[in-house]
Amino acid sequence: MEYAENILGTIGNTPLVKMNKTVEEIDALVLAKYETFNPGNSVKDRMAVKMVEDAEKKGLLKPGGTIIEGTSGNTGMGLALVAIVKGYKMICVLSDKQSKEKMDILRAVGSEVVVCPTDVEPDDPRSYYSTSKRLAEETPNSWYVNQYDNLANRQAHYETTGPEIWKQTDGKVTHFVVGVGTGGTISGVGKYLKEQNPEIKIWGIDTYGSVFKKYHETGIFDEKEIYPYVTEGIGEDILPKNVDFDVIDGFTKVTDKDAAVYTQKLAKEEGFFLGNSAGAAVKGLLQLKDHFTKDDVVVVLFHDHGSRYVGKMYNDDWMRKMGYIE
Ligand code: PMP
Repeated sequence: MEYAENILGTIGNTPLVKMNKTVEEIDALVLAKYETFNPGNSVKDRMAVKMVEDAEKKGLLKPGGTIIEGTSGNTGMGLALVAIVKGYKMICVLSDKQSKEKMDILRAVGSEVVVCPTDVEPDDPRSYYSTSKRLAEETPNSWYVNQYDNLANRQAHYETTGPEIWKQTDGKVTHFVVGVGTGGTISGVGKYLKEQNPEIKIWGIDTYGSVFKKYHETGIFDEKEIYPYVTEGIGEDILPKNVDFDVIDGFTKVTDKDAAVYTQKLAKEEGFFLGNSAGAAVKGLLQLKDHFTKDDVVVVLFHDHGSRYVGKMYNDDWMRKMGYIE
């Protein structure tokens, strides 16, 4: 018999899928690391398990405890699965720009959901950063995950996602392209791949309204770069400890409109029913095309599933209202 001991045993070992029509204008072989095959439908399951195991080892999380996290949804889903299997309670703190589907899904897997306003400064007591910290202080026997600064996040990708990509491409990968939020994915995968072959180029996808690209290029944290944006899952108004700028070769920024339009395109042209950051990643990859040549093997990682965006990027009324389609 062949079976997993529990749902956590099905995390990782996701497929690589060749991309075709959407990347026709690119000479190189483009392969998608298709993370929605994880049980929580996103790459975040990997780091959720790693962060919890790390907290258990350090004695930060004790039996019967409560896990608290400020999360855009996917990390919450991963943590909720870990909490179920390991017997913890779970509280997710979300900002109000997140899709309703994400909130409903979290509640479905037993998480308590607390919603906070998006358009306030990170140190405002109403922000989701401040609210998560406060709840952690007020709740007995609780542990605040802090995926931004918890380095077990990028370690999960160093130990699993990076080695999988190396093995699946037979060591032939030449470029890795991925959206950056906490920075865990790009930093863990980037470090692993560069240790195997320092020539591999690591590209981050950023969004307008986020600080990463300017900071990487100038070393300046420019508050003028910060303004509200629609794209979900990538970009930040802080510099998370998980972002290792040294392993990143460059960033490109993608507009909200392009990210939304390309999310739809991926579904229609490739049959890839994916989240909003996948649209941003593939548009960013097209923006970077001059860096790729015929013999290159470009791996682009897609973080999450389309089901969380049916009321937004997959809804033409919403797309029209936003001015993204005619
Ligand atoms: N896309 C989506 C949909 C996400 O939820 C996240 C995590 N915030 C990212 C991309 C960015 O991944 P990372 O946090 O590892 O940089």
